[in-house]
Amino acid sequence: MSARRSSHMATTSAAHPAQQRLVDELRRQGIADERVLGAIAKVPRHLFVDDALQSRAYENTALPIGHAQTISQPYVVALMTQAVLGGRKPPQRVLEIGTGCGYQTAILAELVPVVFTVERIKPLSEQARKRLGALHYRNIHFGYADGSQGWLPYAPYDGILVTAGAEAVPPALMQQLAPTGRLVMPVGPQGAQRLKLIERRIAGFHEQDLGAVSFVPLLPGKC
Ligand code: SAH
Repeated sequence: MSARRSSHMATTSAAHPAQQRLVDELRRQGIADERVLGAIAKVPRHLFVDDALQSRAYENTALPIGHAQTISQPYVVALMTQAVLGGRKPPQRVLEIGTGCGYQTAILAELVPVVFTVERIKPLSEQARKRLGALHYRNIHFGYADGSQGWLPYAPYDGILVTAGAEAVPPALMQQLAPTGRLVMPVGPQGAQRLKLIERRIAGFHEQDLGAVSFVPLLPGKC
């Protein structure tokens, strides 16, 4: 490829044409953080869904991953990642609640030095651990537990990202957020959830609304 041609290319370039189209669509939808767009361009989403759904992996939609759970819509993954990073030096340690297939985990692991991720459904946790190991991620710690209690031994976290919704943010998660830390979570009744960004400041917690979302529920216990 000539230097002239490459100087006209976007700053991110994906392996698959469909993946590049997805990145372009997210940019049009307002995702402005090039670090996040670069991670979406890099992580092979088709390896996180069943064979039968691979042709749809770069559509901007949520898809089923079994056990009545879903892989989140790429736009929402990008929005949540952008919110937890903030417009500054990336957080050092981020806790994700709801590993699911591990796609959001991989996006975080591209951008953050250490990622902790907790899942309550054992087969999903084990499958994600295997998949992300095969993709050579070495900066992820996997927990099989009820993440509504957070993950106390490794707290506090500079960022907490919850990929399941509840009526309110569990108090344990607020407590495990470091000073100046950022928490992103869907909050509200099923069918009317809002994505919330909560920043911990010296004066207390500061909340921002990032729009309507639809997530599976945060459930108690593990199975
Ligand atoms: N981040 C995932 C989204 C998966 S859907 C992805 O990109 O694929 C939400 C996940 O949250 C499900 O796997 C569900 O089992 C998990 N979950 C729900 N309640 C939980 C809890 N209390 N603790 C940990 N995980 C939970």
